[in-house]
Amino acid sequence: MNFVDLNFIEKCISQLSNYTEKDRPFTRLVFSEEFIKGRAWLTQKFKEFNLITKVDDAGNLFGIYKSSTNASKKILIGSHIDTVAYGGKYDGIAGVISGLSIIKFLSDNNIELPFDIEVYDYLGEELNDWNISCIGSRGICGTLSEVMLNSKNSRGIILKDEIDRIGGNTKNIDKLSNQFKNVLACFELHIEQGTTLENKGIDIGVVESMPNISRHKILIEGQAGHSGTTLMENRKDALVVASKLIIYINKLAKEISQKDNRHFVATVGKIEVFPNYVTIIPSNVEFIVDLRVVNETSRDLFLNQLNKEIIKLKKLENLKIKFQDLMISPYIEMNKTINESLKKSANDLNFTFMMMDSGAGHDTAHLAKVSKASIIFIPCQNGLSHCPEEFTDSINIKKGSEVILKSILDLKDNYNEII
Ligand SMILES: [Zn+2]
Repeated sequence: MNFVDLNFIEKCISQLSNYTEKDRPFTRLVFSEEFIKGRAWLTQKFKEFNLITKVDDAGNLFGIYKSSTNASKKILIGSHIDTVAYGGKYDGIAGVISGLSIIKFLSDNNIELPFDIEVYDYLGEELNDWNISCIGSRGICGTLSEVMLNSKNSRGIILKDEIDRIGGNTKNIDKLSNQFKNVLACFELHIEQGTTLENKGIDIGVVESMPNISRHKILIEGQAGHSGTTLMENRKDALVVASKLIIYINKLAKEISQKDNRHFVATVGKIEVFPNYVTIIPSNVEFIVDLRVVNETSRDLFLNQLNKEIIKLKKLENLKIKFQDLMISPYIEMNKTINESLKKSANDLNFTFMMMDSGAGHDTAHLAKVSKASIIFIPCQNGLSHCPEEFTDSINIKKGSEVILKSILDLKDNYNEII
């Protein structure tokens, strides 16, 4: 069965990629001029299929394919069209275009449904200048807090003012999540942003869970001194000790991940050195460990071992090391019924599939807290993402969209049993 139009997908990806900062493709930061233009393009597409187009109170843009009855139930499909700086043409975008391609099929074939389908561009999924990711999906689920809404970015702009500027109405945001009592299912298609599917030659990754994400700060206090006159045996160099710890963290994470059959990764990506001067021995170093795990026991093992190493190094190097927990977001399971349906659809369509964990957070992580939601991954070339080289063949988007479409058609056929 030829469900979804490949040329349509290719055209949409290419058209949307035109709305990028000219000097740094492909950049479409949330609230930017390029973002507004990208949304105007998407609104136009919604109109071509006669969808009712709206911006909700949290600033999410969506188009509604109305049911043939006056049913209040609905299905949400979506992802995001904002990008990181120097991002790619597919992260988030593939999921929104997937939703459009499903609507095109339904519309071209005059398919009547007993529920509405809403296709979403969830506002600002990527981490932004307010240090808040998933603005729209948090907003729709009722977890965009007052503190977040009132936070200021580096230019002093308040987040809620920006949401209101692009059509939101943040005064009413707390009522938004009420709608989930009518939501039958939420679907998202996303590029994997890793190499598992590509290496195994598998079409579809049905996501079981989003990992527990935690961040921990390590502060090392040594002693500053003259780089020319302080003898090597008399130094308390905070950067040297930080280096030892970072290498240890990487080694430990590799060991644990080899034994753990679920997702386990640890990264040190941010480090600050004081006073950061060529001729001064570093007195203080702060760095952040980003930890993403499914199994709690692996997480506990990692943190216990790391703690032991810190105690050992403190003694050995005779300096202070402090450990602080910064944040933790819980492990989130995707909906099992939706996943069963997605697996059945992939099977029926003769696509290969596997169950997998997500290493990244996505809009669906928030939706899964309040509704039946899941996400599928499609392969992307060399696992590259958040860079201009990001690429997935349109055939992968077509296959993933067909899996979601098939699940929607199954919901239609079994509608009376579900509600
Ligand atoms: Zn994304």
